[in-house]
Formats: sequence, C-alpha cells, structure tokens
Amino acid sequence: MTKKLVTAVAALAIATAALPQHPARIFDGNAWWAHIKFLADDKLEGRETGSEGLRKAEAYVVDQISNAGLQPAGTNGFYQPVKFVSRQIDEQKSSVALIHENKAEALAFGDDTFFNTRVDLSQEEITAPLVFAGYGLQIPEKNHDDLAGLELKGKIVVFLVGSPEQVPAALSAHYQTPGERWKPLKAAGAVGVVSIPNPASMDIPWSRIALNRNHPSMELVGPEFNETAGLQLALTFNPATAEKLFAGSGHTFAEIAALGKDRKTLPHFPLSVSLKAKATVKSASVEAANVVGKLPGSDPKLKEEYVALSAHVDHVGIGEPVNGDRIYNGALDNGSGTAALIELASSFKVHPEKLRRSLLFVFVCAEEKGLLGSKYFAMHPTVPTKSIVADVNIDMFLPIVPLKILKVQGLAESDLGDRAREAAQSWGVTVQADPEPLRNSFIRSDQYSFVRHGIPAVKLDTGFEPGSPEQQIFKDWLTNRYHAPSDDLSQSVNLDTAALYEEITRSLVVSIANADAKPQWKPDSFFRRYAAGK
Ligand SMILES: [Zn+2]
Repeated sequence: MTKKLVTAVAALAIATAALPQHPARIFDGNAWWAHIKFLADDKLEGRETGSEGLRKAEAYVVDQISNAGLQPAGTNGFYQPVKFVSRQIDEQKSSVALIHENKAEALAFGDDTFFNTRVDLSQEEITAPLVFAGYGLQIPEKNHDDLAGLELKGKIVVFLVGSPEQVPAALSAHYQTPGERWKPLKAAGAVGVVSIPNPASMDIPWSRIALNRNHPSMELVGPEFNETAGLQLALTFNPATAEKLFAGSGHTFAEIAALGKDRKTLPHFPLSVSLKAKATVKSASVEAANVVGKLPGSDPKLKEEYVALSAHVDHVGIGEPVNGDRIYNGALDNGSGTAALIELASSFKVHPEKLRRSLLFVFVCAEEKGLLGSKYFAMHPTVPTKSIVADVNIDMFLPIVPLKILKVQGLAESDLGDRAREAAQSWGVTVQADPEPLRNSFIRSDQYSFVRHGIPAVKLDTGFEPGSPEQQIFKDWLTNRYHAPSDDLSQSVNLDTAALYEEITRSLVVSIANADAKPQWKPDSFFRRYAAGK
C-alpha cells in the first residue's frame, strides 16, 4: 500500500465517521414494484385520461391510500372530478401547403408537419406569410428579444424550440410554456405559430412523435384555462424537412440548427414562403378525476398547513402499434411515481412519524395532456389555497441505474432545494441541478402547476454524471421507451434505487412538515413573483 493510498483510506474513514446517521431502511422496492404491476398491466390499457383504465387505476389508488389511513380530501370523497374537451384532427378534411411565387406545395402530414390540437385551432382556412423569429422568445430579464424589428401583424411565426445560452434553465423553461410563448406574439399581432423541435434536445424521435400525432388532445373546460386565446394556427414541423420553410430566404435550416445546438443567438428574418392551412377538428366531452387524500399533522397551528406530494396516474393510453404492441403501459411514466406516493402514504401507517404539518397526497389525471389535472387542482384546491406550503412531485424518476446522484428540479429556486440536498446527503447521495436544462423539465411536470400559484416545489429524479456511461442509459431509455409501448413491465428496473429514492423523499417530506418555518423562495428566484400577494 503506498502512502498516498493510506492517506486516502484514512480520509475516507474520517469522512464516513462524519456522515450523519440515518435510520434503518423502511422501503425495499418490492411493494413499489407490485403497485406498478397492477397499474401498468395491459388490462389498464395505458390509463388514458377519461378511460376505464384510468378509473380502475384510481380506484386502486383510493383503496391503497384509505387502507394506509389517509382521509378523503377531494370534493367527492377522495375524488375531485375534472371536465375536459377532447380534440382530434381529421386529416382527411385538413390540409397544409407552402406557397412560393404563387405556386402551392402540399405538405405531408406526418412526414412534414402536423397540427397541434392542444390549441383551439381555427377551422377557417388561413393563408399568411411566414416569419422566422429565432427562438420566438421575449425575455425582459435577460434583455433578449427575438421579435425586435420584426413585423408580425397577420403573420405566422416560425421558431426553433430552445433558448439562448445566457438564459438560465428556469427562465428558459418558464418562457417556453405555451401560454408565455404566445403572449408577446399575440401582442405583436401574429395569428399562428410553426414550431420546429430542436434536434439537439428532442427526447422522442420524429418518427414516433409523428406516429401518434392524431391522438386526441385535451383542454380543461372553462375560459380561465385557455392560455393561447387568439392563436388560430399551430403546427409542429419536422426538423428533417424544415429546409423547405427557408427556401429563398438567404438562410438555411442547417445553419439555424447548428446555432441552436449550442444555444447561440439566432437571426430573425421574413421567410419568402407563405403558408395555407385548413384544420378540421372533432371535439368531445371527457370526464376524469384527481384523487386527494390527507394525513393530518399534530401541531395545533401548523396542521392547518399542507405539504403536498403529487404524482400523475394517467398515461397516454392505446396508440399506434410499435413492434406490434398498441398499449402504452406507462410503467415508469408514471406508474413509478404513483406507486412511490402510495408507498410513502403507507409508510406513515407502518412507521408512524410525528408530523407537525399535514400531508396532502395529490394523484392527478391528464398530466400527459399538458399538466391539466394539476392545473385544475392548483386553480381549485380542495384545501384553502394559501394552506399549501410546498409541493414535492414525483414523475418518472427513472430508477434504471444505481442511485448515487439525485437530480433536483428547482434546486436553486427555494429552500426546498437545500432540504432536498440534506435529505439526500443523510442517505449518502449527492445532488445536482438539471444537467440538461434544454429539456425544460422544470415546466414539464405537475410541480409547475403549483409553482404558478406561488407554491415552492421540487421534483427529484435519478441523476447521472454528464459524460458517464449512465448518461447513455438515460438517453437510450428516452429514445426507445419514453412514451412508447415498451415502457412496460418487461423492462428491468433497479429496486434498490427505487427504495433509496423513497427513503430520501420521505426524509425530505418529514423535514418540510416539521420545520419551524414554511418553505420560502430564494430572493433571486424568478418564480418568486408568483408568490406575491400570498
Ligand atoms: Zn409522460
């Protein structure tokens, strides 16, 4: 043994001795996986919002949490009914064409483009000139304005998904929500948008996105939920064929994509083609529900405050077959989070813990439709609005490698990030901020619905060291299994990672529930603005 090594071993011994002691493990991952076996069974048909499969999954959740001793906290027992309108494009009766020097070139649905029915599309034929507006973002905090100098009145705005490098992840994510993106474009008089996914940050390959483009989308019923009012046309364009939008403009898409890959500032300029589109959309009413249960706290005053734990139960249902399989089981998305929340609820019965604040377990629907169940819950909470002091959201935490690093979405935004770090460290796990901010994860799950109502939130995921072999495992998972029928029970998961994840989450929740002060946004957090007046 060399001296160097001896020193290293001694240092390790000291470090180990200095680690805080954590209690014995409560979770082993087996019960967690058993819940997923139920939730992701083919019989539940992928738990589409409004389907019998989701109703069965939620009945299972209600069964489990009432056995765990949670009290009903919905508006109808454990349930909070939610109403939606579903929209489905009829491509046979729809068309899109580019017009260049008075000649129309029909675009192919799927290969070139498709309509985004999350938007309440106009069913009138629309013809308008196209303008390329870089990332299509106006971010006053960073003096960034993709719209500067552009004439957008009556125009259709083409943009590349993403943001320039000087914009931090949270800001970038926030300004790319459909509603925030639309605000400045609407103010400038635009009538439509064509969004080109950034090839550098696409989770799902175009072929798979295009495959399910005609799946119905949903929106909450009620004008207070329409964030893209006035947007008449919304298309998503295949980056592989996007060159045709740029023909004759003096720029190429290859040039734009190369800049976008490194988050460089993009040029903005009028395109020399116009677009003609006609959408025919079928609408229907859909009903589903959130499931809400509570565990009352013990402190006479603090028990009036709730620490919310959230996870979505829904997935995308039955879709186009991939390798002969039509059922999109959603084992990890988000059977994994639903199961973890059930297990956390049960753990407080089997291993009671004194909690000063109350816990609110919120199992939402329609996350896959655009965070709609949580959006509804946050707008119409079943406990007094101001009583929810935090949200810890679990969505697809991907226990597919050993848990050495915990990725914390929202790490720097509130003191929940510090608590998450402490909780992870007490279990020997380090934390990291999102190493892939371009994926916009902070706005892509239900925590964001709480954040928009001023409630500090975090989402914890299994992390990896950038450049490590683990990174490739995650990348492969997203490419092959994310929103695919193969996110099913046949994949292998790391039960120890799932168990450790549950321990850390439980430690975090206990720490939030028992702290003297309720969670606070960091003074420099962008999201603090939503807490104003609370
Ligand atoms: Zn999903």
